[in-house]
Amino acid sequence: MKKDLLKQLVTASSVSGDEEEVRQILKEELAGVADEISYDGLGSFIARKGSSGPKIALVSHMDEVGFIVKHISQEGFIYFDTVGSFWSQSLLNHRVQIRTEDGSKVLGVIGSVAPHALSESEKQKPADIAQMFIDIGADSYEAVLKKGVNIGDFITPEANFAALSDDRILGKALDNRAGCALMVELFKAFENTDATLYGVSTVQEEVGLRGAQTSVQKIEPDIAIILDTLVAGDTPNINAIHFPLKLGGGAGIPLFDKRYLAHKKLTRAFKTLAEKLEVPLQFCTLKTGATDGGRYNVMASGRPVIAFTLPTRYLHANSSMISIYDYDVTKELVATFINTYNTSTHEKISQF
Ligand code: ZN
Repeated sequence: MKKDLLKQLVTASSVSGDEEEVRQILKEELAGVADEISYDGLGSFIARKGSSGPKIALVSHMDEVGFIVKHISQEGFIYFDTVGSFWSQSLLNHRVQIRTEDGSKVLGVIGSVAPHALSESEKQKPADIAQMFIDIGADSYEAVLKKGVNIGDFITPEANFAALSDDRILGKALDNRAGCALMVELFKAFENTDATLYGVSTVQEEVGLRGAQTSVQKIEPDIAIILDTLVAGDTPNINAIHFPLKLGGGAGIPLFDKRYLAHKKLTRAFKTLAEKLEVPLQFCTLKTGATDGGRYNVMASGRPVIAFTLPTRYLHANSSMISIYDYDVTKELVATFINTYNTSTHEKISQF
């Protein structure tokens, strides 16, 4: 793992619909190694290397869950809508950054009620997101505007990134900057002249796989490999039968989700390769989420798709956690696969 690259990606603000900062980082990283860089109409990033053989798409998403300014009160408090899914209990008293029109960041905190001011029964109830507000230290509507904050500005958790041990990374928006970092590293490692590689980073995944839909129609790849994150079930209070992925358990593959089924022959090819490379795999099925695979599989006439999802603790919250080992073995496995893919392997995988 290139930790500096991941840190830079995590530190950027990139809520769905406001992905400029990550798009710029990706452009700077890959401009020197890609044969062509282009975008779909929504702003998804597409780097291409090579022009022969089967077209492989490596797909991460560049947006993150966050908030959008909905209303500014006369007293200077900022109300918001969530962009993407959150649980209300993971929000109160978190520091946030509002990204203003000119790209500057305004620090604030999601206000909470002191325990002294809550009855015992109120303390038992989860807070309602619709009643939450952000305090940026402004004491009037005008003072909020003066700081550059307007209705429609996007809000992220305050940037944070830390290596907790030799193996564990803690950070904001690891969903899916970890996938973006993997895509960049894999794109740079691609040296196969028998295939064409598209390194893709989609926009607006967290609000309904929208950039997946637009980018796949632009590229029309022959196969797609999705790089994303998924709930790890290895902490207290999560049902490990339903969420079996573990940090440090190896490369994670969802076989079934709300909008996708892993392509069987493609999965078989990865299992064979993983055995050869001695890379451990871990599998899951779930009905409560989806990745960009849920569009890359069905658009136009469809294509083989598989998703790799890094097991991630505390997804869609202020700080999430991943394992460097999982990241590195996923990278090794996918790098070997794309560097040996050619017309004959594609025929074996895609024919019925
Ligand atoms: Zn994601």
